[in-house]
Amino acid sequence: MSYPPKVAAIRQWKSRSEMRAILEGGPGRLVMLNMQDNIAFLRNGPSNGTLTEFMETCHELGTDAYAIIGEADYLPSTHPWGRQRKVILDTPEERIVEITQPTPCGPLTSLEVTHPGQKPARTKMFLEEEADYTAAMALLRELRACRAEVIAHFSAMRQEIGENGFLSIFIPQPMEMFYFILHEQMVYHFLDFPETYRQAMDEVEKTSHFIIDCAAEAGADMVLFGGAGTEVYNPQMIEDHVLRPAIDFDAHCKQLGLFTLMHCCGRTKIYLDNHWFDRFSPTIFESFTPLPLGDVKSPEAAAHQLPPDTFFKGGLSLDTLHRGTPAEVTAEVEAAYRAFGDRRFVLAGTCAVLTGTPRENLLAVTNTAATLETAV
Ligand SMILES: [Zn+2]
Repeated sequence: MSYPPKVAAIRQWKSRSEMRAILEGGPGRLVMLNMQDNIAFLRNGPSNGTLTEFMETCHELGTDAYAIIGEADYLPSTHPWGRQRKVILDTPEERIVEITQPTPCGPLTSLEVTHPGQKPARTKMFLEEEADYTAAMALLRELRACRAEVIAHFSAMRQEIGENGFLSIFIPQPMEMFYFILHEQMVYHFLDFPETYRQAMDEVEKTSHFIIDCAAEAGADMVLFGGAGTEVYNPQMIEDHVLRPAIDFDAHCKQLGLFTLMHCCGRTKIYLDNHWFDRFSPTIFESFTPLPLGDVKSPEAAAHQLPPDTFFKGGLSLDTLHRGTPAEVTAEVEAAYRAFGDRRFVLAGTCAVLTGTPRENLLAVTNTAATLETAV
């Protein structure tokens, strides 16, 4: 599927090959809103929707479709170790499912909580006691033995998306143990079981490299890494457990022809000022959180501290998108074009679009961007 440039401007969203051409340095601009969490809200449905529904919703809104998948954190459902799901609460307001994953080193449990119109969230994570780490490490080693299944899982998604957009695989920073620990609990684990935690992080890193290999083999477009939570650790922890692995992940992805996206939100000023983001150049850097949540005073100035060939992704406040009027959103899009127009730039929010963000505000983003692009 290919479109002549004028048709693409009217249609607004771009096909996979058009998205790839822009990231390879071609002309044009991408609008990539991280909308996974908001899709159920927009569709007024209880489910998360299928990938196809996700693509359709992005295209209805005129954004370039960009599916972020981060679910390769435990074994394929067909694995002989099995996994039990037990509903322990089911009311119209809330549904709680207890998930038990057996391993040869003992079971791991977590709770999955779903509220209407929202993506399920795991509130109690797998890792609580030191012994849980041993079980988690066994689980990760076993996952790496399931190469064919993981590739098949990613390939099926790649096929479902087709030419309609990107498949991006997300690997969280090692400290987050995939999704086994909550952000705000990471520091306590680090203090409580430093040796075991470090061993488990090594296991996570190895598994992340395994996922990168599987992503490339399945034809995924991009790998996302990094993570939130910079406000809760000290700079040395970031250096050891976020930045250094990110540099390795980036090099590995580039070798395999994958685009990369480094995500970092929260308090990033100290890392910018110390030039920590000069050590590698991911395809895309996302994002600088402005005051008051972050500590970067001017994302414009900060964007220029990135390597010139890295796309800066961001520019729009999640709060304005969520609670502002379409006129306020339009003003922010115009300001972002003024601020970032002269560098490689992907129009986006600073992190995932908040659940409840109204359709008319998202349309204000894409319609304003389309008008500005045509005016250029
Ligand atoms: Zn974030």
